[in-house]
Amino acid sequence: MYPVGHILTASIYSKVAAKKLALNFVPVFSISILSNLIDVDHFIYYFKDDGTANSLVLHPGHLYIGVPIFALIVLGFFKPESLNLIYMLIGAFAMHMAADALAFLCQYNLIALIIIDVVLFLILVLIRNKFDASVPFSNLFLFLLCVTLVSASVQYWMHFILKYDPQKELIVYVVPNLIFLLSGLSFYFVFNKKESL
Ligand SMILES: [Zn+2]
Repeated sequence: MYPVGHILTASIYSKVAAKKLALNFVPVFSISILSNLIDVDHFIYYFKDDGTANSLVLHPGHLYIGVPIFALIVLGFFKPESLNLIYMLIGAFAMHMAADALAFLCQYNLIALIIIDVVLFLILVLIRNKFDASVPFSNLFLFLLCVTLVSASVQYWMHFILKYDPQKELIVYVVPNLIFLLSGLSFYFVFNKKESL
């Protein structure tokens, strides 16, 4: 899935995970966004990927995600006090994989991906009153809108104006990871009010 879809699903997931696991929303959301950096594995074999490859088959980080997930589960056996944090991390990775599977199921059809993003925005608006007060919903919505506009514009520019070939230009895969990195860090540093997990 493209960055916007991953970040929107991360926002809904973080809302539920933070509440159910008694963790703070800001660090949970930042970590959920940063967990999408699993996509750095697109740097490998990018010449085999036309931009629509099934990540769960081609990219090593996705292929072997079971290893860190199992390691986290084993860690949980020995660190029962961190179980909620571990559960949240496993959920964030699993959500990325599920979103990738959904995008591939849609064959990366642009219209389908836009419809999914619109539905995710609608879900966010519907559950807006359930967000805690640490980040006003209007600020969160503005943040997501900015990320969406910047991400969509840059990707549109690369694909439709510059006509970059995903199998020849590594930058096509660098940009989504930069969006994850900058979004996760900027959200944390703008909205964190000395909140820890
Ligand atoms: Zn992925």
